[in-house]
Amino acid sequence: MKLHGVRVVVLAVAAIALLAGCFAPPPDGWSTVITCPVTGPVRFTNDWHAPRAGGQLHEGNDIFAPRGTWNVAAVDGHTRLSQGERQGNGLWLTGNDGTQYFYAHFDDYWGGARDVVAGELIGFTGNTGDAQFTETHTHFEIHPNGGPAVNPYPTLVASCTNRVASSASSTVPSGQGFPGAAGAAVPTPR
Ligand SMILES: [Zn+2]
Repeated sequence: MKLHGVRVVVLAVAAIALLAGCFAPPPDGWSTVITCPVTGPVRFTNDWHAPRAGGQLHEGNDIFAPRGTWNVAAVDGHTRLSQGERQGNGLWLTGNDGTQYFYAHFDDYWGGARDVVAGELIGFTGNTGDAQFTETHTHFEIHPNGGPAVNPYPTLVASCTNRVASSASSTVPSGQGFPGAAGAAVPTPR
């Protein structure tokens, strides 16, 4: 009886959420136009949901660049510094539209928590936290409306691989031209 009651409550909550449409995850291929979070030449693959230690799935994409490469705000918003064993020197950027961007493994920060504009320097590529034995990179996540993470790959492809034309294509259909987790690195123009 008790279990049944719980189930009814869960179903009711799910139904309300569906009606409200507020918990519906963004579809595959969801993307937004941002300023590429790492400046200069970068390398990344579609390593979203690649297996990680402890049965975890990779909740972002790793953007590889030399140590000390400038990392910049992807959008206008405000930043919050966040440090931990896994993330090392991490940073949350909350965009003015409520979408959140998470950066991890900074070698160091540039300045503290503050309001920022897109393209503003916020930190430097490194390998702090659980990346300490890996090549230097920025772990990057996108959380639309502050909700669960979505695959940032389409956004990074649109924003980092063709910076000049980054606004020309804000939506990359899923399943078209995305290498898998073991796919080739995406070349960058510079
Ligand atoms: Zn990562």
